[in-house]
Amino acid sequence: MNYNKKTVKDIDVAGKKVLLRCDFNVPQDKATGAITDDKRIVAALPTIAYLLDQKAAVIACSHLGKPKGEWKQSLSLAPVAKRLSELLGREVLFATDIVGEDAKAKAAALKPGEILLLENLRFDKREEKNDPEFAKELASMAEVYVSDAFGTVHRAHASTAGVAAYLPAVSGFLIGKELDIMGKALDDPKRPFVAVLGGAKVSDKINVINNLLEKADTIIIGGGMAYTFKKAEGYTIGKSLLEEDKLDYAREMMQKAEAKGVKFLLPVDNLCAAEFSASAKPVLEEQNIPNELMGMDIGPKAIEAFSDAVKGAGTVVWNGPMGVFEFPAFAGGTKAMAKALAESGAITIVGGGDSAAAVEQLGYADKMTHISTGGGASLEFLEGKELPGVACLLDK
Ligand code: AMP
Repeated sequence: MNYNKKTVKDIDVAGKKVLLRCDFNVPQDKATGAITDDKRIVAALPTIAYLLDQKAAVIACSHLGKPKGEWKQSLSLAPVAKRLSELLGREVLFATDIVGEDAKAKAAALKPGEILLLENLRFDKREEKNDPEFAKELASMAEVYVSDAFGTVHRAHASTAGVAAYLPAVSGFLIGKELDIMGKALDDPKRPFVAVLGGAKVSDKINVINNLLEKADTIIIGGGMAYTFKKAEGYTIGKSLLEEDKLDYAREMMQKAEAKGVKFLLPVDNLCAAEFSASAKPVLEEQNIPNELMGMDIGPKAIEAFSDAVKGAGTVVWNGPMGVFEFPAFAGGTKAMAKALAESGAITIVGGGDSAAAVEQLGYADKMTHISTGGGASLEFLEGKELPGVACLLDK
């Protein structure tokens, strides 16, 4: 996969109409529809401000929620247009349709330095089907396509990939940064390259482990997924999370790591509980977990071993919490890893989703080199998969 893609700085946008795919998929209050966190809108500002400064006429578009091709007023992007306008300190025009009369008329009349937001792309079922006619209609309003919604680059939708067939396509600053940092970590990492993987399920991370076994020097596994590996090693795991059908795979991965000389670290002790609850009393167990207990977090010896491995690293990629970090009594392992990454001096990359939330919640967000803005997308990135929303951009 080639990550060396043209950005908005490599193309002339002055006086041009630019179709800008943003990720305005913001959380909303269920009752009032109010935006409860505008981080994604704020994150889009640098690219928008640059385009407007360059005197482009910006036609912004995004999805919001999962309307599945139906027109749902509760998922209208109108509140996003309002918030964006407040943040930019200038008017943001809003089209009440996507490629209909209103959008086309407003796009046609749009002047350099002005911005228009189209209605929720997923109100039209052709968006997620990557329908070429729909992509062509979207593209027909603009002269350049700028993609800045990293959270959807793993999807081949009309607005994330299809439009690139009709317009010169480049990345905005958000995707540019993701490609720069994560692409480099995978292609040419500063070594030792340490991958820290956690979270609930082995099955979600199979392809990530496969790909990282080819690239990393050390793979650390914590979280619920570690227990399938511990069982495969021959230890008892009590009531811990287990994916029985992944035991052979776990053995295979550990053998592969050994054959390749990749260090493969699993927790050597565990903080356990009798039930999955925030008020459960933590019980420390070594390698073997008794029948009545489940592993909820990594123990102090595991923390020390994992932190030591991170300390000497050149690059660390982290995806997935080390334990049930939502329960304070079992957040220690995740917190300790966040601290170890923050103090490592390495290039530190945190995958989106839960690990990003954990790092933010624990107050280490500004200590990381990069926190990916896409959950599923950053996992597929680590899998080494071709991402349709990246592949469609012009090579540098
Ligand atoms: P994922 O979405 O796969 O990254 O998994 C994140 C979830 O895994 C979080 O909600 C954690 O609470 C959960 N998790 C982490 N460690 C454990 C564990 N030992 N047992 C059960 N769930 C866990």
